[in-house]
Amino acid sequence: MNAPTEVSSSKYDLAAFAHSLGDVPIETDTRILQKKSRDFFWFSPVLKRQLQDKVAELVVVPRDEADIVQIASAAARHRVPITVRGGGTGNYGQCVPVQGGVVLDMSALNEIEWQNGALLRVKAGRKMHHIDAETRKQGFELRMHPSTKRMASIGGFAAGGSGGIGSVAYGGLRELGNISGARVISLEETPRAFELKGDAALKICHGWGTTGIITALEMPLAPAFSWIDVIVAFDDFMTAVRFGYEVTLADGVLKKLVTPLDWPIPRYFSGMEQHFPENRPVVIAMVADHSIGPFLSVASAYKGEITYQRATDESMGARPLYELTWNHTTLHALNVDRDITYLQALYPASGFMEKVAEVAALFAPDEVIHHFEFIRYAGLPTGAGLPLIKYTTDERLNEIMEIYRAHGVFIADPHIWMLEDSAGYKSADADLIGFKREVDPLGICNPGKMRTYVPLR
Ligand SMILES: Cc1cc2nc3c(=O)[nH]c(=O)nc-3n(C[C@H](O)[C@H](O)[C@H](O)COP(=O)(O)OP(=O)(O)OC[C@H]3O[C@@H](n4cnc5c(N)ncnc54)[C@H](O)[C@@H]3O)c2cc1C
Repeated sequence: MNAPTEVSSSKYDLAAFAHSLGDVPIETDTRILQKKSRDFFWFSPVLKRQLQDKVAELVVVPRDEADIVQIASAAARHRVPITVRGGGTGNYGQCVPVQGGVVLDMSALNEIEWQNGALLRVKAGRKMHHIDAETRKQGFELRMHPSTKRMASIGGFAAGGSGGIGSVAYGGLRELGNISGARVISLEETPRAFELKGDAALKICHGWGTTGIITALEMPLAPAFSWIDVIVAFDDFMTAVRFGYEVTLADGVLKKLVTPLDWPIPRYFSGMEQHFPENRPVVIAMVADHSIGPFLSVASAYKGEITYQRATDESMGARPLYELTWNHTTLHALNVDRDITYLQALYPASGFMEKVAEVAALFAPDEVIHHFEFIRYAGLPTGAGLPLIKYTTDERLNEIMEIYRAHGVFIADPHIWMLEDSAGYKSADADLIGFKREVDPLGICNPGKMRTYVPLR
């Protein structure tokens, strides 16, 4: 940690800000500033060009909520931009400080405050992997987690994520009841604490850190099961998807993950070649151990070949299969082929299988390679598509998205860093803007990410 006197800025009085922090730990080392100003925006060739030079001037590392109040007050007094950071695993530069200023690293706020059966209150900086390790002692686990569970914080997931492993049973993070409460500190000269409960807690979802500093979350938990990782290989992709869909519809088969992947995606999973037969699309699944019998019966009915079946292992050095799914699939592909990027698509629940066939016929198989994650959306089973795209130009990437949209598939564009553009809205949600007015009247919380908000100056 360096002394506050080493910081300065021409746009705002950063030195005065740093001095007013007292003994709150700060970092000014250039390498740390660069590292803590990045996330996985480089998945997108578009964002890579736009964001790679953005860097904070200071990192602050609060130890507790009192430190956060002190930081929030100093930021408001000196009009210093604050960008909150959890694990830094976002995909669209959500925690990149596009207007410089300060990165607020939440990693030290990591205690579990309490667990009362299936309800947990936890500080926002705690890693989800460490949450499950604790709650499993009482027979519960998070209802869902991203494939970055071992790196990402619960606060970052709530503010920047959408769903993941578990969403096949519980839906997305923003579905009513999947977050029970949140505590948010405002960025004002005299910061206020907001305790949001019930559906009000959903206000913090997908705000990309623009709506105050989340210090704690109340999360409803699921009963913990012993999970089995399974790979099933098929002769063709449509059979793999049909099998996955049938398993998804079977409420009596308890599962946490159902992921159809077309060939050649499995080729990108280095070190796992023996479990991914050449030219065979697969379904990767996590199934509760007591449900494995019916799962295998359905696989057999679809002539699926079981190429891997083992208890999910999240210990150090092990590779749980969920780290081949969701956006880890894209990561593995990018590690092999830097010309690959991806899209985020939500297929309509009604007529899902027909839509999969319709969209598959629209693209050359070496340009769009299909990857689905089965989820529930508003209660209905459907597939979230995370297709890999062989990138050529920005124009072609946009054209591909337009083709999806024209065929009735919703696209959440992962090649943008402005909140409103992520879902193609003209302006941010009125609730979100209203809440931002309360917790960030000056517009210093992750500024530059929400174009429709006009700050009070
Ligand atoms: C390989 C890979 C796989 C992924 N898989 C999934 C997946 O399965 N599902 C999914 O939803 N996402 C996925 N993601 C995206 C990302 O990992 C998750 O959304 C993750 O939960 C983000 O958590 P984080 O702690 O890293 O957040 P960060 O990246 O640090 O932050 C995300 C956003 O939240 C804000 N934020 C962080 N903490 C706070 C806080 N305490 N208060 C206010 N704002 C805050 C930040 O400012 C930023 O805008 C994946 C990303 C990668 C790179």
